Amino acid sequence: MKSKIVIGNWKMNKDFEEAEDLISSIEEKLENYNLATEVVLCPPMVYAELVTDHASQDDSQFYAGVQNVSEYENGAYTGEVSAEMLASMDVSFCIIGHSERRKYFGETNAIVLKKMLRLLANDIVPVMCCGESLDERKAGKHFDVVRQQIEETLYTLTPEQMENVMIAYEPIWAIGTGETATPAQAQEMLAYIRSLIEKKFGTQMAVDTYILYGGSCNAKNALELFSQPDVDGGLIGGASLKPDDFIKIIEAAETVVKDN
Ligand code: PEP
Repeated sequence: MKSKIVIGNWKMNKDFEEAEDLISSIEEKLENYNLATEVVLCPPMVYAELVTDHASQDDSQFYAGVQNVSEYENGAYTGEVSAEMLASMDVSFCIIGHSERRKYFGETNAIVLKKMLRLLANDIVPVMCCGESLDERKAGKHFDVVRQQIEETLYTLTPEQMENVMIAYEPIWAIGTGETATPAQAQEMLAYIRSLIEKKFGTQMAVDTYILYGGSCNAKNALELFSQPDVDGGLIGGASLKPDDFIKIIEAAETVVKDN
């Protein structure tokens, strides 16, 4: 069985000292594990170096990620951070297309694609989020919405590029709401996404592509979600800010892999 991936998305939380404490606490708790699961921490950009410093240590149990990147290469883009800058700091993963960025910062599929190409050109793994709103689900449009998000981004990639991309299905109605997709709903959509990848890139790519679930995944429901055949792990928001809960989620991933 493929290893699982657990990614912590801290969003815009924690001051510098709290960020240091959270990283140290996760690091301490993971000290005695020999993890099969890949763990990625995505703090706010301003703390990227904190996380890359820890992640670069020989015995580190996690990778460094961030939550955003500029769609532009370099130059006069005040306030932006380029993929090249992130690569020069050894950032390994970057979340793109999160529904909060789509909603509050106008991130369209076209922008998500530009960001993805910048990341791929700099050997950073894009974790591309997709997912429908509650209204879209109620109207039975959820498969169409996700298909369009995939087609307008991933379908334009070459197979070599696609090999380095991860997908996170995050139904918007489940993000930060405490309302989780049922394991059956998560499985149904992840299997559908995998079928879309298969249609465009073939069976092997579909099998190999990491597809994660995100949306109120927590210490209690992670095991059941991660036990679904198409769920390769989780993108974790709120629960990634609580070290004990985050470790329990990682343990759930470990349990599923070891039991199979
Ligand atoms: C997220 O922001 O990616 C997320 C899944 O948040 P939460 O776990 O808090 O729903």
